[in-house]
Amino acid sequence: MAGRGKAKGKGVRATVRGGVQGVGFRYETVKRANGLGVLGWVRNEDDGTVVVQAEGPDEAVDALVEWLGEGPRDASVDGVEVAKTKVEGHEQFAVRGVSAGVFVVQEHQATAHHWDLRLEVDGMMRSWAVPKGPSMDPAQKRLAVQVEDHQRSHNDFEGRAGEGAVIVWDRGTYEQGGRVPWPEAIERGHAVFVLHGEKLSGGFALQRTRPGEKPQWLLIKRKDDSARPGSDVVAEFPESVVSGKTLAQILGD
Ligand code: MN
Repeated sequence: MAGRGKAKGKGVRATVRGGVQGVGFRYETVKRANGLGVLGWVRNEDDGTVVVQAEGPDEAVDALVEWLGEGPRDASVDGVEVAKTKVEGHEQFAVRGVSAGVFVVQEHQATAHHWDLRLEVDGMMRSWAVPKGPSMDPAQKRLAVQVEDHQRSHNDFEGRAGEGAVIVWDRGTYEQGGRVPWPEAIERGHAVFVLHGEKLSGGFALQRTRPGEKPQWLLIKRKDDSARPGSDVVAEFPESVVSGKTLAQILGD
């Protein structure tokens, strides 16, 4: 694509204050950024501001920042604070903080005991079997074996399955993150995302370590405010978020 990989240009982080949320600010910013060839992201903050990471050729970034001072028609901008940041190397301009779909973690006793992490991508559930389960400790790198996609209708399944059983261990929505758009990020073997579950929350990364018929990945909690070093979330919270039952209780029923 034209412009990609050319002169890096500069990166800025702009914080826009005023009546700037609920007025189409993010949507218009994406349109402007794409028109100018600016990469990065835009996000609504809890304090009512809109924050924009913009990187690209100097003139294009300056033009976007100038536009942020006015914003879309219904916005009332009180001020824009601009700070220089490093160029993060984005390959798109994306809205952050918006759900990309649902996720579910199903604890599954089959021949082997594992937790199935499933992320909605293009209407299907991309799936990884995690033998030790997910962790909220960034020091724990959990093996995650990619398995076949599942239908969304399977997300609610809980109960006996053959000789084994399944519970819905956690579920919620998630955001796609990182510099590369999905599903390309998954094809490339490095996918960053933010979970909003009942047990799991905050940033995670899936890093492919071995391609092949059953690709192997590592599931790693990112170091952020939600990280809980030393914790063991699957042991602390074994119950289904749907029925309150443990896998052992389902197997005993
Ligand atoms: Mn399974």
